[in-house]
Amino acid sequence: MEKKIFVTQPSLPPLEEFEVSLKQIWESKILTNNGPYHKLFEQELAEYLGVKYLSLFSNGTLALMTALQTLRITGEVITTPYSFVATTHALWWNNIKPVFADIEPDYFNLDPDKIEAAITPRTTAILPVHVYGNPCKLEKIKQIADTYGLSLIYDAAHAFGVKINGESILNYGDLSVISFHATKVFNTIEGGAIVCHDAKTKQRIDYLKNFGFAGETTVIAPGINAKMNELQAAYGLLQLKYVRQNIEKRREIAMYYRSNLKGINGISYLDDIEGVDHVYPYFPIFVDEEKFGMSRDAVYENLKAGNIFGRRYFYPLISQFPSYRGLVSAKKENLPIAEKVADKVICLPIYPDLELDDVDRVIRIIREVQPEVHQPEAALQTVYGEFPIY
Ligand SMILES: *Cc1c(COP(=O)(O)O)cnc(C)c1O
Repeated sequence: MEKKIFVTQPSLPPLEEFEVSLKQIWESKILTNNGPYHKLFEQELAEYLGVKYLSLFSNGTLALMTALQTLRITGEVITTPYSFVATTHALWWNNIKPVFADIEPDYFNLDPDKIEAAITPRTTAILPVHVYGNPCKLEKIKQIADTYGLSLIYDAAHAFGVKINGESILNYGDLSVISFHATKVFNTIEGGAIVCHDAKTKQRIDYLKNFGFAGETTVIAPGINAKMNELQAAYGLLQLKYVRQNIEKRREIAMYYRSNLKGINGISYLDDIEGVDHVYPYFPIFVDEEKFGMSRDAVYENLKAGNIFGRRYFYPLISQFPSYRGLVSAKKENLPIAEKVADKVICLPIYPDLELDDVDRVIRIIREVQPEVHQPEAALQTVYGEFPIY
Protein backbone atom coordinates (compact mmCIF):
# COMPACT_ATOMS: atom_id res chain seq x y z
CA MET A 1 0.00 0.00 0.00
CA GLU A 2 1.28 3.43 -0.92
CA LYS A 3 1.97 5.93 1.86
CA LYS A 4 -0.87 7.87 3.41
CA ILE A 5 -1.33 11.43 2.19
CA PHE A 6 -3.45 13.77 4.29
CA VAL A 7 -5.17 16.98 3.26
CA THR A 8 -2.47 18.98 4.99
CA GLN A 9 0.77 18.66 6.92
CA PRO A 10 2.21 21.55 8.92
CA SER A 11 5.55 23.17 8.10
CA LEU A 12 7.87 23.64 11.07
CA PRO A 13 10.95 25.84 11.38
CA PRO A 14 14.35 24.09 11.69
CA LEU A 15 14.63 22.53 15.16
CA GLU A 16 18.15 23.95 15.69
CA GLU A 17 16.82 27.46 15.25
CA PHE A 18 14.00 26.88 17.71
CA GLU A 19 16.47 25.42 20.24
CA VAL A 20 18.33 28.73 20.24
CA SER A 21 15.08 30.58 21.01
CA LEU A 22 14.17 28.07 23.71
CA LYS A 23 17.54 28.59 25.43
CA GLN A 24 16.86 32.32 25.57
CA ILE A 25 13.41 31.76 27.01
CA TRP A 26 14.82 29.38 29.62
CA GLU A 27 17.41 31.97 30.60
CA SER A 28 15.01 34.91 30.75
CA LYS A 29 12.21 32.91 32.42
CA ILE A 30 9.75 35.17 30.64
CA LEU A 31 7.06 32.81 29.39
CA THR A 32 4.09 35.03 28.57
CA ASN A 33 2.41 38.45 29.26
CA ASN A 34 3.71 40.45 26.31
CA GLY A 35 7.33 39.33 26.60
CA PRO A 36 10.20 40.22 24.26
CA TYR A 37 9.39 37.55 21.62
CA HIS A 38 5.72 38.55 21.65
CA LYS A 39 6.60 42.21 21.08
CA LEU A 40 9.06 41.44 18.28
CA PHE A 41 6.80 38.92 16.54
CA GLU A 42 3.80 41.25 16.68
CA GLN A 43 5.86 43.99 15.04
CA GLU A 44 7.49 41.83 12.36
CA LEU A 45 4.25 40.08 11.53
CA ALA A 46 2.41 43.37 11.05
CA GLU A 47 5.20 44.48 8.72
CA TYR A 48 5.12 41.26 6.74
CA LEU A 49 1.35 41.41 6.34
CA GLY A 50 1.28 45.10 5.53
CA VAL A 51 -1.04 46.11 8.38
CA LYS A 52 -0.68 48.83 10.97
CA TYR A 53 -2.25 47.43 14.14
CA LEU A 54 -2.18 43.74 15.01
CA SER A 55 -2.79 41.90 18.29
CA LEU A 56 -1.57 38.35 18.77
CA PHE A 57 -3.82 35.67 20.25
CA SER A 58 -3.43 32.13 21.57
CA ASN A 59 -5.76 30.90 18.80
CA GLY A 60 -8.11 32.15 16.10
CA THR A 61 -11.35 31.24 17.85
CA LEU A 62 -10.55 33.31 20.94
CA ALA A 63 -9.53 36.14 18.59
CA LEU A 64 -12.95 35.93 16.88
CA MET A 65 -14.75 35.92 20.23
CA THR A 66 -12.70 38.88 21.41
CA ALA A 67 -13.27 40.78 18.14
CA LEU A 68 -17.03 40.62 18.81
CA GLN A 69 -16.47 41.87 22.38
CA THR A 70 -14.22 44.66 21.13
CA LEU A 71 -17.02 46.20 19.08
CA ARG A 72 -19.69 45.28 21.66
CA ILE A 73 -21.64 43.25 19.12
CA THR A 74 -25.01 41.96 20.40
CA GLY A 75 -28.37 40.77 19.04
CA GLU A 76 -28.09 39.24 15.57
CA VAL A 77 -25.16 38.90 13.18
CA ILE A 78 -25.42 37.96 9.51
CA THR A 79 -22.94 35.27 8.53
CA THR A 80 -22.21 32.43 6.11
CA PRO A 81 -23.03 28.75 6.64
CA TYR A 82 -20.14 27.76 4.35
CA SER A 83 -17.21 27.94 6.75
CA PHE A 84 -15.50 26.19 9.62
CA VAL A 85 -17.80 25.90 12.66
CA ALA A 86 -15.71 28.31 14.75
CA THR A 87 -17.11 31.25 12.78
CA THR A 88 -20.61 30.66 14.14
CA HIS A 89 -19.50 29.24 17.49
CA ALA A 90 -17.82 32.59 18.25
CA LEU A 91 -21.24 34.23 17.93
CA TRP A 92 -22.89 31.62 20.14
CA TRP A 93 -20.30 32.10 22.88
CA ASN A 94 -21.18 35.80 22.85
CA ASN A 95 -24.88 35.05 23.14
CA ILE A 96 -25.41 36.44 19.63
CA LYS A 97 -27.93 34.89 17.26
CA PRO A 98 -26.38 33.87 13.94
CA VAL A 99 -28.47 34.66 10.88
CA PHE A 100 -27.33 32.66 7.86
CA ALA A 101 -27.44 34.13 4.38
CA ASP A 102 -26.56 32.23 1.19
CA ILE A 103 -23.21 32.32 -0.63
CA GLU A 104 -22.45 33.55 -4.13
CA PRO A 105 -21.92 30.94 -6.84
CA ASP A 106 -18.46 31.95 -8.05
CA TYR A 107 -16.15 31.88 -5.01
CA PHE A 108 -18.63 30.67 -2.37
CA ASN A 109 -18.35 33.66 -0.04
CA LEU A 110 -21.31 35.39 1.67
CA ASP A 111 -23.45 36.85 -1.13
CA PRO A 112 -23.84 40.63 -0.68
CA ASP A 113 -27.17 40.46 -2.53
CA LYS A 114 -28.54 38.18 0.22
CA ILE A 115 -27.51 40.35 3.16
CA GLU A 116 -30.16 43.08 3.10
CA ALA A 117 -33.08 40.65 3.28
CA ALA A 118 -31.56 39.18 6.45
CA ILE A 119 -31.29 42.51 8.31
CA THR A 120 -33.69 43.06 11.24
CA PRO A 121 -33.81 45.77 13.94
CA ARG A 122 -31.63 43.48 16.07
CA THR A 123 -28.83 43.16 13.50
CA THR A 124 -25.59 44.77 14.65
CA ALA A 125 -22.89 43.29 12.42
CA ILE A 126 -21.91 41.24 9.38
CA LEU A 127 -19.40 38.39 9.77
CA PRO A 128 -18.26 37.16 6.33
CA VAL A 129 -15.43 34.69 5.68
CA HIS A 130 -12.83 34.86 2.88
CA VAL A 131 -13.36 31.17 2.14
CA TYR A 132 -10.24 29.37 0.78
CA GLY A 133 -8.54 32.78 0.97
CA ASN A 134 -10.57 34.18 -1.93
CA PRO A 135 -11.68 37.75 -1.19
CA CYS A 136 -15.32 38.50 -0.42
CA LYS A 137 -17.08 41.17 -2.49
CA LEU A 138 -15.47 43.82 -0.31
CA GLU A 139 -16.92 47.01 -1.76
CA LYS A 140 -20.51 45.78 -1.89
CA ILE A 141 -20.41 44.41 1.63
CA LYS A 142 -18.88 47.60 2.99
CA GLN A 143 -21.57 49.64 1.27
CA ILE A 144 -24.32 47.62 2.96
CA ALA A 145 -22.60 47.84 6.36
CA ASP A 146 -22.27 51.62 5.98
CA THR A 147 -25.84 52.10 4.78
CA TYR A 148 -27.33 50.19 7.71
CA GLY A 149 -24.79 51.26 10.33
CA LEU A 150 -23.53 47.72 10.91
CA SER A 151 -20.10 46.65 12.10
CA LEU A 152 -18.09 44.51 9.70
CA ILE A 153 -15.80 41.78 11.02
CA TYR A 154 -14.03 39.49 8.55
CA ASP A 155 -13.12 35.96 9.52
CA ALA A 156 -9.88 35.98 7.53
CA ALA A 157 -8.62 32.67 8.96
CA HIS A 158 -7.81 31.45 5.42
CA ALA A 159 -6.47 34.74 4.13
CA PHE A 160 -3.03 35.09 5.74
CA GLY A 161 -0.91 37.10 3.31
CA VAL A 162 -3.65 37.60 0.70
CA LYS A 163 -3.39 40.95 -1.08
CA ILE A 164 -5.58 42.80 -3.52
CA ASN A 165 -3.77 45.13 -5.88
CA GLY A 166 -0.88 45.08 -3.43
CA GLU A 167 -3.03 45.95 -0.39
CA SER A 168 -3.52 43.47 2.47
CA ILE A 169 -7.01 42.02 2.56
CA LEU A 170 -6.79 42.37 6.36
CA ASN A 171 -7.15 46.13 6.01
CA TYR A 172 -10.80 45.75 4.98
CA GLY A 173 -13.68 45.74 7.45
CA ASP A 174 -13.62 47.14 10.98
CA LEU A 175 -11.66 44.13 12.19
CA SER A 176 -10.13 41.07 10.54
CA VAL A 177 -9.30 37.87 12.37
CA ILE A 178 -6.61 35.40 11.30
CA SER A 179 -5.68 31.94 12.55
CA PHE A 180 -2.22 30.42 12.89
CA HIS A 181 -3.46 26.90 13.66
CA ALA A 182 -1.18 24.04 12.63
CA THR A 183 -3.32 23.39 9.53
CA LYS A 184 -3.15 26.94 8.19
CA VAL A 185 -0.77 28.52 5.64
CA PHE A 186 1.23 30.09 8.50
CA ASN A 187 1.26 28.37 11.88
CA THR A 188 2.41 29.14 15.41
CA ILE A 189 1.25 25.61 16.45
CA GLU A 190 -1.93 27.28 17.71
CA GLY A 191 -2.41 31.01 17.37
CA GLY A 192 -4.27 33.89 15.85
CA ALA A 193 -4.54 37.65 15.59
CA ILE A 194 -6.93 40.57 15.25
CA VAL A 195 -6.08 43.34 12.81
CA CYS A 196 -7.60 46.76 13.50
CA HIS A 197 -7.07 50.27 12.17
CA ASP A 198 -6.29 52.55 15.13
CA ALA A 199 -4.24 52.56 18.31
CA LYS A 200 -7.25 53.00 20.57
CA THR A 201 -8.95 49.86 19.27
CA LYS A 202 -5.71 47.89 19.58
CA GLN A 203 -5.46 49.06 23.18
CA ARG A 204 -8.97 47.77 23.90
CA ILE A 205 -8.21 44.43 22.22
CA ASP A 206 -5.02 44.07 24.25
CA TYR A 207 -6.89 44.78 27.49
CA LEU A 208 -9.64 42.32 26.60
CA LYS A 209 -7.26 39.45 25.81
CA ASN A 210 -5.63 39.91 29.25
CA PHE A 211 -8.68 39.70 31.57
CA GLY A 212 -9.52 43.38 30.95
CA PHE A 213 -6.50 44.61 32.92
CA ALA A 214 -5.60 48.21 32.01
CA GLY A 215 -3.26 48.60 34.98
CA GLU A 216 -2.31 46.92 38.23
CA THR A 217 -5.65 47.68 39.84
CA THR A 218 -7.83 48.67 36.89
CA VAL A 219 -10.09 46.21 35.06
CA ILE A 220 -12.03 47.86 32.24
CA ALA A 221 -14.24 44.93 31.17
CA PRO A 222 -14.82 41.22 31.73
CA GLY A 223 -11.91 40.22 29.51
CA ILE A 224 -10.65 36.76 28.77
CA ASN A 225 -7.25 35.08 28.78
CA ALA A 226 -6.33 34.75 25.11
CA LYS A 227 -2.67 35.76 25.16
CA MET A 228 -0.06 34.20 22.90
CA ASN A 229 2.86 32.80 24.93
CA GLU A 230 6.58 33.34 24.34
CA LEU A 231 7.18 29.87 22.89
CA GLN A 232 4.51 30.40 20.24
CA ALA A 233 5.84 33.89 19.48
CA ALA A 234 9.47 32.73 19.16
CA TYR A 235 8.35 29.89 16.90
CA GLY A 236 6.24 32.29 14.83
CA LEU A 237 9.16 34.64 14.40
CA LEU A 238 11.16 31.79 12.85
CA GLN A 239 8.22 30.75 10.68
CA LEU A 240 8.18 34.22 9.12
CA LYS A 241 11.57 33.51 7.52
CA TYR A 242 10.12 30.58 5.59
CA VAL A 243 6.57 31.68 4.80
CA ARG A 244 7.34 33.13 1.35
CA GLN A 245 8.98 29.96 0.09
CA ASN A 246 6.19 27.86 1.59
CA ILE A 247 3.53 29.86 -0.22
CA GLU A 248 5.53 29.54 -3.45
CA LYS A 249 5.54 25.75 -3.07
CA ARG A 250 1.79 25.78 -2.50
CA ARG A 251 1.39 27.84 -5.66
CA GLU A 252 3.33 25.29 -7.72
CA ILE A 253 1.16 22.46 -6.43
CA ALA A 254 -2.05 24.37 -7.15
CA MET A 255 -0.88 25.08 -10.72
CA TYR A 256 0.04 21.43 -11.19
CA TYR A 257 -3.38 20.27 -9.99
CA ARG A 258 -5.10 22.75 -12.30
CA SER A 259 -3.21 21.80 -15.42
CA ASN A 260 -3.73 18.08 -14.77
CA LEU A 261 -7.38 18.19 -13.72
CA LYS A 262 -8.23 20.37 -16.68
CA GLY A 263 -10.60 18.68 -19.04
CA ILE A 264 -11.92 15.98 -16.69
CA ASN A 265 -15.64 15.94 -17.34
CA GLY A 266 -17.52 16.89 -14.17
CA ILE A 267 -14.56 18.16 -12.10
CA SER A 268 -14.17 21.88 -11.59
CA TYR A 269 -11.90 24.00 -9.44
CA LEU A 270 -11.32 27.63 -8.55
CA ASP A 271 -9.05 29.88 -10.56
CA ASP A 272 -6.92 32.80 -9.49
CA ILE A 273 -8.53 36.24 -9.47
CA GLU A 274 -6.82 39.05 -11.33
CA GLY A 275 -5.02 41.49 -9.04
CA VAL A 276 -5.08 39.08 -6.07
CA ASP A 277 -1.94 37.57 -4.47
CA HIS A 278 -3.19 34.11 -3.54
CA VAL A 279 -1.69 31.86 -0.84
CA TYR A 280 -3.34 28.51 -1.73
CA PRO A 281 -4.44 27.30 1.71
CA TYR A 282 -6.74 24.63 0.20
CA PHE A 283 -7.29 22.98 -3.15
CA PRO A 284 -11.04 22.36 -3.39
CA ILE A 285 -12.52 20.49 -6.34
CA PHE A 286 -16.24 20.24 -7.09
CA VAL A 287 -17.70 16.98 -8.35
CA ASP A 288 -20.72 17.23 -10.62
CA GLU A 289 -22.25 13.80 -10.08
CA GLU A 290 -24.14 13.71 -13.39
CA LYS A 291 -21.23 14.77 -15.56
CA PHE A 292 -18.55 12.87 -13.68
CA GLY A 293 -20.70 9.76 -13.47
CA MET A 294 -20.09 9.20 -9.76
CA SER A 295 -21.09 10.94 -6.56
CA ARG A 296 -18.78 13.21 -4.59
CA ASP A 297 -18.83 10.79 -1.67
CA ALA A 298 -17.87 7.89 -3.94
CA VAL A 299 -14.90 9.88 -5.28
CA TYR A 300 -13.94 10.76 -1.70
CA GLU A 301 -14.12 7.07 -0.65
CA ASN A 302 -12.11 5.97 -3.69
CA LEU A 303 -9.38 8.44 -2.80
CA LYS A 304 -9.40 7.09 0.75
CA ALA A 305 -9.08 3.54 -0.55
CA GLY A 306 -5.93 4.75 -2.33
CA ASN A 307 -4.62 6.23 0.95
CA ILE A 308 -5.42 9.81 -0.10
CA PHE A 309 -7.27 11.54 2.72
CA GLY A 310 -9.02 14.61 1.34
CA ARG A 311 -11.57 16.52 3.44
CA ARG A 312 -15.05 17.68 2.56
CA TYR A 313 -14.57 21.30 3.63
CA PHE A 314 -17.26 22.58 4.17
CA TYR A 315 -19.69 19.73 4.54
CA PRO A 316 -21.99 19.57 6.39
CA LEU A 317 -22.84 23.26 6.40
CA ILE A 318 -22.63 24.95 9.81
CA SER A 319 -26.38 25.53 9.53
CA GLN A 320 -26.91 21.75 9.56
CA PHE A 321 -25.27 21.10 12.94
CA PRO A 322 -27.64 20.44 15.86
CA SER A 323 -26.75 23.74 17.56
CA TYR A 324 -28.00 25.79 14.61
CA ARG A 325 -30.35 23.73 12.45
CA GLY A 326 -33.42 24.92 14.37
CA LEU A 327 -32.89 28.51 13.24
CA VAL A 328 -35.24 29.85 10.58
CA SER A 329 -32.26 31.09 8.53
CA ALA A 330 -30.74 27.58 8.59
CA LYS A 331 -33.53 26.11 6.45
CA LYS A 332 -32.26 24.51 3.25
CA GLU A 333 -34.56 26.65 1.07
CA ASN A 334 -32.78 29.73 2.43
CA LEU A 335 -29.35 28.43 1.44
CA PRO A 336 -29.68 26.68 -1.92
CA ILE A 337 -26.23 27.48 -3.28
CA ALA A 338 -24.41 26.65 -0.05
CA GLU A 339 -26.29 23.34 0.08
CA LYS A 340 -25.24 22.47 -3.50
CA VAL A 341 -21.60 23.42 -3.07
CA ALA A 342 -21.33 21.52 0.23
CA ASP A 343 -22.52 18.40 -1.60
CA LYS A 344 -19.87 18.69 -4.32
CA VAL A 345 -16.68 19.72 -2.58
CA ILE A 346 -13.56 17.73 -1.76
CA CYS A 347 -10.41 19.51 -0.63
CA LEU A 348 -7.40 17.68 -2.07
CA PRO A 349 -4.04 17.49 -0.28
CA ILE A 350 -1.90 20.63 -0.54
CA TYR A 351 1.06 21.62 1.63
CA PRO A 352 4.62 22.80 0.98
CA ASP A 353 6.29 19.38 1.39
CA LEU A 354 3.80 17.53 -0.81
CA GLU A 355 5.66 15.95 -3.72
CA LEU A 356 4.38 16.17 -7.28
CA ASP A 357 4.55 12.36 -7.50
CA ASP A 358 1.96 12.28 -4.75
CA VAL A 359 -0.16 14.88 -6.52
CA ASP A 360 0.02 12.56 -9.56
CA ARG A 361 -1.35 9.74 -7.42
CA VAL A 362 -4.34 11.91 -6.47
CA ILE A 363 -5.01 12.88 -10.07
CA ARG A 364 -4.58 9.32 -11.34
CA ILE A 365 -7.20 8.00 -8.90
CA ILE A 366 -9.70 10.68 -9.95
CA ARG A 367 -9.15 9.87 -13.62
CA GLU A 368 -9.25 6.12 -13.13
CA VAL A 369 -12.42 5.95 -11.05
CA GLN A 370 -14.46 7.90 -13.58
CA PRO A 371 -16.86 5.53 -15.35
CA GLU A 372 -15.71 5.09 -18.94
CA VAL A 373 -18.93 6.28 -20.54
CA HIS A 374 -18.28 9.66 -18.97
CA GLN A 375 -14.72 9.88 -20.18
CA PRO A 376 -14.86 10.38 -23.98
CA GLU A 377 -16.55 13.74 -23.66
CA ALA A 378 -13.82 14.80 -21.32
CA ALA A 379 -11.38 15.37 -24.13
CA LEU A 380 -13.83 17.72 -25.81
CA GLN A 381 -14.86 19.69 -22.78
CA THR A 382 -12.93 21.95 -20.55
CA VAL A 383 -14.15 23.36 -17.29
CA TYR A 384 -11.08 25.52 -16.94
CA GLY A 385 -12.08 29.05 -16.07
CA GLU A 386 -15.74 28.29 -16.55
CA PHE A 387 -17.29 29.38 -13.30
CA PRO A 388 -19.96 29.39 -11.94
CA ILE A 389 -20.35 25.63 -11.89
CA TYR A 390 -24.12 25.63 -12.33
C1 LIG B 1 -9.27 27.67 11.47
C2 LIG B 1 -10.46 28.54 11.41
C3 LIG B 1 -10.94 29.21 12.54
C4 LIG B 1 -10.45 28.93 13.92
O1 LIG B 1 -9.14 29.19 14.15
P1 LIG B 1 -8.36 28.40 15.32
O2 LIG B 1 -7.04 29.11 15.34
O3 LIG B 1 -8.27 26.98 14.91
O4 LIG B 1 -9.12 28.59 16.58
C5 LIG B 1 -11.99 30.10 12.38
N1 LIG B 1 -12.55 30.30 11.19
C6 LIG B 1 -12.14 29.66 10.09
C7 LIG B 1 -12.82 29.95 8.79
C8 LIG B 1 -11.10 28.74 10.16
O5 LIG B 1 -10.72 28.07 9.07
